[in-house]
Amino acid sequence: MANADLSWIDYDSQHVWHPYTNIKNPTPAFPVKNASGCTIELQTGEVLVDGMASWWSAIHGYNHPRLNEAIKIQLESMAHVMFGGLTHRPATELVQKLIELTPGCLDHVFLSDSGSVAVEVALKMAMQYSSSVYKSSVKQKILTIRGGYHGDTFGAMSVCDPITGMHSLFTSVLPRQIFVDRPKTKFDGIWDESDFEQFETVLSKRRREICAVILEPIVQGAGGMYFYHPTYLKRVREACDRNDVLLIADEIATGFGRTGKLFACEHADIAPDILCVGKSLTGGYMSLAATLCNERVASGISSGDPGLFMHGPTFMGNPLACACAKASIDLLIASDWQKNVLRIENHLSSGLEIMNQLKSVKSTRVLGAIGVVELHQPVDMHLIGAEFVKQGIWVRPFGTLVYVMPPFCINNAELQSLVNGIGLVVSELD
Ligand code: PMP
Repeated sequence: MANADLSWIDYDSQHVWHPYTNIKNPTPAFPVKNASGCTIELQTGEVLVDGMASWWSAIHGYNHPRLNEAIKIQLESMAHVMFGGLTHRPATELVQKLIELTPGCLDHVFLSDSGSVAVEVALKMAMQYSSSVYKSSVKQKILTIRGGYHGDTFGAMSVCDPITGMHSLFTSVLPRQIFVDRPKTKFDGIWDESDFEQFETVLSKRRREICAVILEPIVQGAGGMYFYHPTYLKRVREACDRNDVLLIADEIATGFGRTGKLFACEHADIAPDILCVGKSLTGGYMSLAATLCNERVASGISSGDPGLFMHGPTFMGNPLACACAKASIDLLIASDWQKNVLRIENHLSSGLEIMNQLKSVKSTRVLGAIGVVELHQPVDMHLIGAEFVKQGIWVRPFGTLVYVMPPFCINNAELQSLVNGIGLVVSELD
């Protein structure tokens, strides 16, 4: 459109708070005109290959006809109704899908509106379970591993890594949880039993204080993009069982195929007691998350006094989001997603591997449709975005980590653009 009014862009930079930014000296936010397939078109005309899937979520790419249609059809009957005292088919059908597809027997589902809230719900479930079943006000702590990320609300923050998370800003008000070192053995390394000793010791010593363990299975995302060995996760499950402690798996980033399995827990062939999903649940279209739990947790909470689970968001079970999520899951399951994720994994592996020769690069790693280039020095967030835009790609690093997790619909030419663009930008840092 000629002479379109773009004054909103200036207004945005002065008034709109973007994620993790200084409102008085913000890092650039590039204005988007539209997005479709695996590309994002800027107002300034550049068309970028998307490496981020909007933070793990847009697995089918943007503007997908099937997801658009699901929302339009749902909109014809209702956009939203409260979930207290009312129910509807889109929510029930989605819940049925989630129960069918997730590992183990996670038969009860609490819908909420974002990943952080799904984590709060999981923590509250574990704490309410503990007070109902053990009648103890002591067994309320959460054990987790360093290097984790679980969201930005207070409960979630309390289990994020104490250094890379935001603990120092909120020390006086954050609940104090229990941390052990993250596993040393990498995903494809040789398992070393001593890697589990610290976890085992702390859990068995403090089991009377700990109601649950929370972790991101296999892939620690925003806390460091680290991939650890499946046997560690297996040992965690066994130790939780031995010590009467619940296991919460946060699959908000890893769920729905991203790591090459539908859920990352499957790499270790385990099922958690409580599972959080979000992000790609709706194919990245709308904000929706879910916390699933097994019969033990559901009956434990219900047997307490008053037996009600004390949470109820206004937009719980939003019908538009549920209809979209069901369509997204149907689309994923009907596709040959495993082969496709493997194609992305192979392409990223060979493309990123050679960057180990660059001086600025510390290491590279790939798992499923996730590729990481770890640098020796943190990038300059005020400058780096524009460098990637110049290369025609959308990549948003943090700290020393340049990483991609593209939509699964990315083709090989687009993948190669990502690899070439990252290579060029990173080589300029040498
Ligand atoms: N858990 C994990 C593993 C995440 O990666 C994130 C988001 N980055 C969250 C929880 C929080 O989700 P949300 O941003 O939707 O609140």
